[in-house]
Amino acid sequence: MEAAAAVTMWTRSLEHNMRYMNFVCDGDSSAFRAVKECNNGDGPYGKDYVIEKWDCTNHVAKRLGTGLRNLRKDTYIEVNQSGSRKRRSVLGGKNKLTDKVIDRLQHYFKISIKRKANTTEGEMRDEIMSSFYHCTSTDDNHHHDLCPKGEDSWCFFQAAVARGETPKSHSEMKVFFSLPPEQLELVKGVYTRLTTDEMMKRCLQGLTQNPNESLHSRIWLHCPKHLKVPFHQSRVLHKLLRTFCAELFLCTYKRTPLVDHVSTD
Ligand SMILES: [Zn+2]
Repeated sequence: MEAAAAVTMWTRSLEHNMRYMNFVCDGDSSAFRAVKECNNGDGPYGKDYVIEKWDCTNHVAKRLGTGLRNLRKDTYIEVNQSGSRKRRSVLGGKNKLTDKVIDRLQHYFKISIKRKANTTEGEMRDEIMSSFYHCTSTDDNHHHDLCPKGEDSWCFFQAAVARGETPKSHSEMKVFFSLPPEQLELVKGVYTRLTTDEMMKRCLQGLTQNPNESLHSRIWLHCPKHLKVPFHQSRVLHKLLRTFCAELFLCTYKRTPLVDHVSTD
């Protein structure tokens, strides 16, 4: 969200007898800062009404992926190849931190947050770290202590233990990557930075910006940016407004998500 638009929305909300007390942010906090700093730093509603910053869980998970890719890029050795010095990735390569592995870790990070929404910072952090330890376990050195216990556990190791069976090998279960301990510590450092109490607190609601982004995509679908016409004169805008009025009524009436009712005609 543009900072100026956010300030306008927050300050005029009082005209409608309401206050927006929470702000779901993506990676860019400039809009949140602008809202907090308006009215000479008192915020739009004064010092007695402090607006809380929450994080979009999808964006936090993406930060894990970005952090791991940057770590992989920045961790290299220089080797002689065909008479010239070339960089060779230390963390990348087969059975290591590949793009596919990073995508999976990012996905697990996201579902860990969702699974532990409305719990505590510590529970959410343990759930996230369980996916890290699970995915770096081997038959000789496994770490499933944080994985959920019981026969229904998503962790094959804990599920087998609960059933009184011998767990299958980690290679057979395709546990994801293997690195020497000192390199694993580097990867763990990315997790540690993203699971501080402060970060977890901002994720505890388990919220995302998905509804906003769905609405934005529908608006741009009806009013493409390449149409070089004044916005207020656009027939497309009029059609959009008619469509949305009808669809918003339907959503309110049926209490169902907006995206289910938005037509693409
Ligand atoms: Zn496990």
